Amino acid sequence: MTKNKNYSPAIILVLLAALVSVSWLYVIEKDSSAKERNNTENVSAVGSEGNSNSEQHFAWKMVTSWPKNFPGLGTAPEHFAQAVEAMSDGRLTIRVYGAGEIVPAMEVFSAVSQGTAEMGHSGAYYWKGKIPSSPFFTAVPFGLTAIEQNGWLYYGGGLELWREVYEPFNLIPLAGGNTGVQMAGWFNKEINSLEDLKGLKMRIPGLGGEVFSRAGGTAVTMPGGELYTSLQTGLIDATEWVAPYNDMALGLHEVAKYYYYPGWHEPGPSLELVINKDAFATLPKDLQTIVEIAARYANQDMLDEYTARNSSSLIDLEKNYDTKIMKLPDDVIRELKSISEEYLEELAGQDELTAKVYKSWKAYADSVRDYHHISEQAYINARDLE
Ligand code: CA
Repeated sequence: MTKNKNYSPAIILVLLAALVSVSWLYVIEKDSSAKERNNTENVSAVGSEGNSNSEQHFAWKMVTSWPKNFPGLGTAPEHFAQAVEAMSDGRLTIRVYGAGEIVPAMEVFSAVSQGTAEMGHSGAYYWKGKIPSSPFFTAVPFGLTAIEQNGWLYYGGGLELWREVYEPFNLIPLAGGNTGVQMAGWFNKEINSLEDLKGLKMRIPGLGGEVFSRAGGTAVTMPGGELYTSLQTGLIDATEWVAPYNDMALGLHEVAKYYYYPGWHEPGPSLELVINKDAFATLPKDLQTIVEIAARYANQDMLDEYTARNSSSLIDLEKNYDTKIMKLPDDVIRELKSISEEYLEELAGQDELTAKVYKSWKAYADSVRDYHHISEQAYINARDLE
C-alpha cells in the first residue's frame, strides 16, 4: 500500500469530523438563539392564551422561602427544575431564586399570585393569616405523618380541596416535598412541665405556633436564615426548624443546648409548589403534565433525602457535640394534644371552606390512624421488641 492510500481515510475522517463539528455548532447556535427569542416572547406572554406549538420554549422564574440551595428545602426546587428541563428537552426552563433575591421569604405566595414569578416553593401554613385552612395542607399538630399526608393529598381528596382553596388567588398548588417527622425544637432550658413553656418566645409557625401560644408561650414566625442570630442574641428563647440535617446546617446546635423530640406540631409537613394559573394556561398540555409529574417526583425525593440524611446527621450530632437530645415528657405532650384538638374544632368553625377541609382531613386522619395502628406502628413496635 502507498503512503497516500494509508493516510487518505484518516484525512477524510478528520475532514468529516470538522464538518460535523461546524454543523453541530451551527445547530446549537441556531437553537439557543431560537430559545432566547422564544423565552422573551413567552415571558411577556404570561396571562394570555398559550398555544400548542411543541417547539415553543418557556423560561420561568421560581421564588422560594429558603436560602438559595439550602439543604433539602432549597435543593428540592432545584431538583424539580432540573427534572422539568430534562423531561421537556429544554422547552421549559425554571430558574430558582433564594429568599430575598426577588422577593422576601414570606412574600412567595403573593408574588406568584400576582405573576411576579410563574412559580414558588414554600409552605402553605405560612399563609394562615390570609387562609385559615392553609395549614391542613402543610402540617397539623398531632396530625398526619408524611406517608399519611401523601395518601390524603393524592387519594383522599386533599389536593382537590387545596386547589379549591387557592383558586381565588389565581394559584395552582402541588405538593412539593415533605420533611418527615420534625423535631420539637431547640431550647436553652429543660422542659419538664407545661409551666416551663410559659413566657418563652419561640419561633414556631402554623397551627403549632397557635397551640404553643395557648399553652402560655409566645409564638413568632421568621425565616430560617434569621434563626441562628435571633437565638444567639436572645431575640427568641427557643426555635423549631426541621430536624438534624437542616438544623445543623443552620448551626442551631451552636446556640442552643437542648434538642427536644418529637415534632408534635409538624409530624409530616408538606411543602408546596405554587404555579400562577395564567402562566400554567400558556403551557402546552405535555409541558403541563411534565410539571405535575416532576412535582410528584420532587415530593417523594425530598422525603427520601431527609430520611437518609437526618439519620446520618443525628449520628454526627450525638458523636461530636454536647447537645442534649431529650424527649418531651408525656404529660407535656398530652396537654399540648388536648389544646390542639380544641383549637382545631374552633378553627373549623371559622368559615365554610375551612369546615369542609377539616371534615375531609379529620375523616381521613381517623381512618388512617386505625389502619396504621395495625401496620406502621405495629411493625415499628415489633421491630423494637427485645
Ligand atoms: Ca418546622
